[in-house]
Amino acid sequence: MYQEEICRLSPNEWEWFAQDVLFHLGFMIHVGPSEGTDDGLDMIVEREKTKYLVSCKHNHKSRKNVGVREESDIRDRVAQHNCEGFIAFYSVGATTALKRKFISLEEAGIGVIEIYLDNILDIIPTMLGFTLQKYFQRPQEIHHHVVQSCSYKPLKCMSEACEKDIVSKERIPLSLAGFCIDDEGFIHLIYGCKSCVGYCCSHPCWAEIGQIRYIEQMLIWRSIVDEVAIQNKPATNFYKHWAQLQEAILQIQVPQGWGRWI
Ligand SMILES: [Zn+2]
Ligand SMILES: [Zn+2]
Repeated sequence: MYQEEICRLSPNEWEWFAQDVLFHLGFMIHVGPSEGTDDGLDMIVEREKTKYLVSCKHNHKSRKNVGVREESDIRDRVAQHNCEGFIAFYSVGATTALKRKFISLEEAGIGVIEIYLDNILDIIPTMLGFTLQKYFQRPQEIHHHVVQSCSYKPLKCMSEACEKDIVSKERIPLSLAGFCIDDEGFIHLIYGCKSCVGYCCSHPCWAEIGQIRYIEQMLIWRSIVDEVAIQNKPATNFYKHWAQLQEAILQIQVPQGWGRWI
């Protein structure tokens, strides 16, 4: 799981990672982790003419949410460094008490941006592979299930007797998408286990699920689907199935530059 990979980062790596994430989010870095002294200052960044003091907390051992005691004198620290805002960059969450403190800071005119583990997990898939490779090994593997399990939607093999989730880690290598033409000449987009639906892929074009999870391959597959739809009579459910396939692949999509399918 992705959380585990984050836990493995050292507190120092966590600060460098924070710098890369904030840069990716459009912040200018004024003072980076290397320059920060140990007076509760990790970084100073700026966006839209607002300067933010960044506090990186990496409770990788305790995995406990950051509490008020770990974030003392926020207001003083912000003022001391001529900032107008505060960014909490935590590999965990914040306690309710600390969140209340953030609200009172907002009321006092200090802009607070909270970036917690959940947010970071959402941001990571939008980042470039070469940046992520500085921190994580084999990103395409940890990328699997970056999508939170509560919103994860399986894609069931179209064989009614099977219905296995073809985008599950175990089933990806065993699954494909392709086309079949029915007796009336309509073309259907089909997906499922190679062993269940492979034999009915009567059209020569097909794709491995493990292949089209790479964005570069997905773009090629997309043009093939467009082409096939133009050259044939699409069945009524063709586009519905295509949308379902794309939606499912999105959950396991490997971003650009994270490697190639071989
Ligand atoms: Zn999965
Ligand atoms: Zn199946």
